[in-house]
Amino acid sequence: MNNQKNIAIVAHDNRKKDIIEWVEWNFDILLKHQLTCTGTTGNLVEKAFLRKIEETNSHQNISIHKLRSGPLGGDQQLGALITEGKIDIAIFFWDPMQPHPHDVDVKALLRIAVLYNIPIACNRATADFIISSPLMAEKDATIATDYQDYLHRDIPELK
Ligand code: PGA
Repeated sequence: MNNQKNIAIVAHDNRKKDIIEWVEWNFDILLKHQLTCTGTTGNLVEKAFLRKIEETNSHQNISIHKLRSGPLGGDQQLGALITEGKIDIAIFFWDPMQPHPHDVDVKALLRIAVLYNIPIACNRATADFIISSPLMAEKDATIATDYQDYLHRDIPELK
């Protein structure tokens, strides 16, 4: 399938219930794509998929690329994959009610997603809009931002 996307899925602990509900609701669609998750989210998504596969008798295989757990560097790994053009969409349910030890990594991930023009959903409503968008069926649905001017900018001479 040439319009297969690599979808990153990440949720903070207080948002894991929401992400699993979303994953179960969109199971049929998500099965057609590649998934990349931070560690704990990935384990829960995998279990949800296996439950759905059993329930629906669909004999599908799933393979989820699991990164490190977020606080152990998973968000940074995901950011690096975005810079390499390996992630098409990010679903990132971060917790707006609590500080986290890896808040700087979360901020960095959000920045990199914006910099590389990756659609990123931070809540269920946006995730629903993205997953049901006609652009999901397009091969190159987003335009990479051109940073050539920045790369060739004038640097003041060093003294
Ligand atoms: P986790 O990481 O999926 O390993 O819990 C998510 C995060 O906190 O960024």
